[in-house]
Amino acid sequence: MAATEQPVQETASGKQEFAVENPATGEVIAHCPDLGAADIAAMARRGREVQPAWDALGFEGRGRILRRMQKWVIDHQDEIIAVIRSETGKTYEDALIAEISYGAAAFGFWAVNAPKYLADEKVKSSAVLVKGKKLMLRHKPLGLIGVIGPWNYPLTNSFGDCIPALAAGNSVILKPSEITPLTSLKLAEGLRECGIPEGVFQVATGLGATGAALVDQVDMIMFTGSTATGKKVMQKAAETLTPVSLELGGKDPMIVLADADVDRAANTALYYGMFNGGQTCISVERVYVEAPVYDEFVAKVTDRARALRQGDGPSGSVDVGSMTFPPQVDIVERHVEDAKAKGAKVLVGGARGEHDGGYWYEPTVLVDVDHTMSAMMEETFGPTLPIMKVRDEEEAIKMANDSPYGLGASVFGRDTRHAEAVARRVEAGAVCVNDALINYSALELPMGGVKASGIGSRHGAGGIRKFTQQQALLVTRFATKKDPHMYPYSAKMTARLGKFFGFLYGRGKRD
Ligand code: NDP
Repeated sequence: MAATEQPVQETASGKQEFAVENPATGEVIAHCPDLGAADIAAMARRGREVQPAWDALGFEGRGRILRRMQKWVIDHQDEIIAVIRSETGKTYEDALIAEISYGAAAFGFWAVNAPKYLADEKVKSSAVLVKGKKLMLRHKPLGLIGVIGPWNYPLTNSFGDCIPALAAGNSVILKPSEITPLTSLKLAEGLRECGIPEGVFQVATGLGATGAALVDQVDMIMFTGSTATGKKVMQKAAETLTPVSLELGGKDPMIVLADADVDRAANTALYYGMFNGGQTCISVERVYVEAPVYDEFVAKVTDRARALRQGDGPSGSVDVGSMTFPPQVDIVERHVEDAKAKGAKVLVGGARGEHDGGYWYEPTVLVDVDHTMSAMMEETFGPTLPIMKVRDEEEAIKMANDSPYGLGASVFGRDTRHAEAVARRVEAGAVCVNDALINYSALELPMGGVKASGIGSRHGAGGIRKFTQQQALLVTRFATKKDPHMYPYSAKMTARLGKFFGFLYGRGKRD
């Protein structure tokens, strides 16, 4: 549950609703219904009623709507960006690069690839008892999927998982974060215009309890959010044996080896540390630099960090936006103050920004950090870049793996074979060499965390098959009236079968 929930108020008609703020200004920009368990149950009934017809449309019919939606996103990008910015405080560029481009690409990708990833598969078996029979693996939609999303990327990480779930033939109920529900409502409008049948996609606005109620109603839960809430969701889902896929928090390390292109490493660390105000699950959250290039790296990062423009301006006028979730500012401040108290130095930033209202924290560079500090061990999820000097790559790998999380990571080195060998030793769901974070845009490549960063993954074949049930089919087309092993058992037939199994399996070499 969000650390500070929005106050809920009652409307004249007795309905509960909550306020949505623009975090760059602190102004209330909308009110949304706070739906309860009865509302969610009614939505679930509706979703289930219409799902068979949606499934029956086939990949082609569903794909037509998804492709229309791809164009709709591009045609309406400025409107969508305005909505995203109004509820997240991110810059125009952050919304364009990581939300519009992702959403538009994803509609096309799943329209084209759902039929490939979910096609019936012929299976060959060496089992003697099924010789001559047709064996098939089928991926059947689960029915009704619940998607619960966070506030940092309301299109990419909240709405994004609905696209493969719909492409697979499911109905979907999306519960967006109470902080950022407006983007989902805008996209629901788009899907309606593009012809999605009523009830196939529904948005359930509300607070944490709305998400909890959704877990009880659906056939599968796709959750993206904090590790703490992910555990609660998994616990609740266990009551109904509902499958879950969990995309959780991260503390992504970057390793800069002594032979790295320091310019590229510094630019990448700064960009993917500060992108979206550092509120990205796969942000560069901590950097380990080998001693020979440490001073040069720190100098380059520091110079460039000082030049960053933070604010709420039009496209091209600012680099870093506001924080989206007000309590996140307190977390960032706590991490920086804790680091300072334990001996870290702040080279850039280190304070709440001076702005006309809203929730801000300055782009911040920290050095002289170590693993006793929250800034190195807990997810900060803000515009901070703590940099630590390490003796050698062994220490860098040890430090990178000294974390409860395992979402993303990056390694920089000119000898890419060597850097790749280092990358293979990092405990993370995805590791980039001479890059960071951009792997997320490759929808063919699985993206998911290990350790406390999650269970399951999105993208690739697994990113859509998780919204389906694997059904095994065995078809006996040509057969005798009775197979030899069937009743009545006879000693003669049993002896023959025993010999046959011995012939098949009993000739292996002994060690
Ligand atoms: P939260 O865990 O606070 O919330 C996530 C969603 O869960 C929100 O919609 C929230 O509703 C809802 N929720 C809260 N309580 C419950 C409950 N008991 N049962 C069901 N749903 C509930 O995460 P944040 O929104 O703060 O998102 C930030 C986190 O998400 C970070 O840790 C980040 O790393 C992670 N993240 C991971 C990604 C990945 O791919 N691995 C991608 C993006 C973010 P409400 O907001 O109304 O409380």
